[in-house]
Amino acid sequence: MLSIVSTPIGNLGDITLRAIETLKKCDAIVCEDTRVTGNLLKMLEIPKKELISCHGYTNPKKIDNIVERLEKGEHLALVSDAGTPGISDPGYAIVSKMHEHGIKMEVIPGPSAFLAALSASGLPIDKFVYLGFPPLKKGRQTLFSSFADEKRTIVLYESVHRIERTLNEIAKNLATQPDRTIVIGRELTKMYEDIIRTTVKDLPELLTNMTKKGEFVVIVGPK
Ligand code: SAM
Repeated sequence: MLSIVSTPIGNLGDITLRAIETLKKCDAIVCEDTRVTGNLLKMLEIPKKELISCHGYTNPKKIDNIVERLEKGEHLALVSDAGTPGISDPGYAIVSKMHEHGIKMEVIPGPSAFLAALSASGLPIDKFVYLGFPPLKKGRQTLFSSFADEKRTIVLYESVHRIERTLNEIAKNLATQPDRTIVIGRELTKMYEDIIRTTVKDLPELLTNMTKKGEFVVIVGPK
């Protein structure tokens, strides 16, 4: 069986009891960066076990090997570096392959950065659209210009290298709607967590003062 296990996005206290139990009892753990998962096990005081690094479809042989082991009856856990496997990380490709092979799976839900940010946003989230990381080139402008007519709350991920550029471009595309709400979730669940709520018109001023370090979720309120 494959257990799909969510892990914390920064605060170790957010690990679930089921996640600990599963990581303890499984035969091996399929992960992204073995150092990151190795550290997690250490912090949880789980004895060392085999870690299989697998980045989605980049190495089909590795996935075949994982399928083989599962078909022989091993119990493997799938984790990503942080949060929920498959949410803007390669986990989905592995899970997709397991479906193709009829492998038995269970899911152990837990933290995900976009859900944490949405719930702290105070924006309507009965309907929202999750966009992951915005494209770097092709489709980027089309995507941002579509925000002007979007009636659902929009949530996206951004890296430290592009946060300023992305926020500036969003503000530029929403210049005719200066009161649209923008929420920025930075370093969620960590020591220097910031949940900032502002508007398009106040974004430039905010950007001059905001700490541009760490990990970010950007939320744009509905039209
Ligand atoms: N699987 C993860 C999840 O469930 O949220 C997301 C993995 S994705 C490769 C990493 C991105 O998630 C970061 O660049 C950032 O945009 C967002 N992220 C992860 N942890 C975060 C945190 N503690 N605070 C804010 N954003 C975070």
